[in-house]
Amino acid sequence: MKEIILIKNGELVLKGLNRNTFEDILIKNMKKALRDIGEFKFTKSQSTIAVESVDGEADLDDATEALKRVFGIAALSRAAVAEKDMKSIKGIAKEYLAEELSLAKTFKVEAKRSDKQFPLKSPEIARDLGGFLLSKFNHLKVDVHNPDVTVTVEIRDTHAFIRGNNIKGAGGMPVSTSGRAAVLISGGIDSPVAAYMMAKRGIELVAVHFASPPFTTELAEEKVMQLLHKVARYSGPITVYVVPFTEIQTQIRDKCAEEYFTIIMRRYMMKISEILARHQNCSALITGESVGQVASQTIYALGCTDAAANMPVFRPCIGMDKEEIIKISRKIDTFETSIQPYEDCCTVFTPRHPKTRAKLEDVIAEESAIENSDELIKEAAENARKTVIK
Ligand code: ATP
Ligand code: MG
Repeated sequence: MKEIILIKNGELVLKGLNRNTFEDILIKNMKKALRDIGEFKFTKSQSTIAVESVDGEADLDDATEALKRVFGIAALSRAAVAEKDMKSIKGIAKEYLAEELSLAKTFKVEAKRSDKQFPLKSPEIARDLGGFLLSKFNHLKVDVHNPDVTVTVEIRDTHAFIRGNNIKGAGGMPVSTSGRAAVLISGGIDSPVAAYMMAKRGIELVAVHFASPPFTTELAEEKVMQLLHKVARYSGPITVYVVPFTEIQTQIRDKCAEEYFTIIMRRYMMKISEILARHQNCSALITGESVGQVASQTIYALGCTDAAANMPVFRPCIGMDKEEIIKISRKIDTFETSIQPYEDCCTVFTPRHPKTRAKLEDVIAEESAIENSDELIKEAAENARKTVIK
């Protein structure tokens, strides 16, 4: 029996982007997601895309799992391919849906006939197949409003497709339909979630990580790479920069008032990230900040951080509780990695009494103690190490 995967597109909201462009990008992303599983053929028709293994050998369980992480897919389903006659349709439906129907109590059949030459009309197809399945699975009852299983038969130009319930897709927009942005990624819980959330809106990701050896170790950096690897399963490949941050942090420690350490450090991060972001054609920065979570994330502190960047800063976690963020991090499988206890550069030189009601002019005055600031920023950006996470 031949089986395929049917893809239902998600929202198509961008006015400038037509369906064709949207679908072409979606198909490109699906190809990438499936590259280790096999070679697939993609056929567009109306609002669905049929995905088929070219040699019929690819593992469709693996393919389905991979496609469940591709943004821009609202729903997907596995479907069996039958000849376009009721005998073939019934035989295949009985065999293909056996397990799903034995576990169900109620079902209904829906038919869609896009080939108007097919001798039966949609309601007739549904009735005929429904009656047949009832006779083969005696325990079943029909429920047209809230069935456990909806069996769908689609009569297309060359074949009929038979499927059971839909599987929920990742939703959102295909990555790279909404431009590029650079995420400031730490080893924590929040920034990988923030990255995932913006990729879901169709944004292609670049990542920037600040490392302060010897205060931070190679293990911390390795952890960030692992996190990005998990995010890349949704977002596709991520170009990542690891920025040497020791010199700047040391200068801040030596020259600025302790209560401003974190805010000033944050502002340097924004400035350096902005340079790298522009270099990579990004139009925004992304952070994992959430109002009130820590002293550097009061609205006053966030205002000071924001003022350091001449680019929009997206903070998708801004209104979320930690619990809500953790729920997403578990879903995308970053949580267990995030809680591994390695020092982040943020935890180096943490002030004992951080300024929570910081004023921008005071912060700027403190910062001016570091005279060669521009040089330090330029140098850090230039010496950033670039890799690509796939
Ligand atoms: P996270 O869980 O994302 O680390 P957090 O609640 O621990 O967030 P902070 O450590 O204050 O908060 O960091 C706030 C944000 O600053 C992070 O979400 C991230 O975007 C950025 N950030 C922090 N440390 C780094 C770093 N070493 N490299 C790059 N960005 C960082
Ligand atoms: Mg952190």
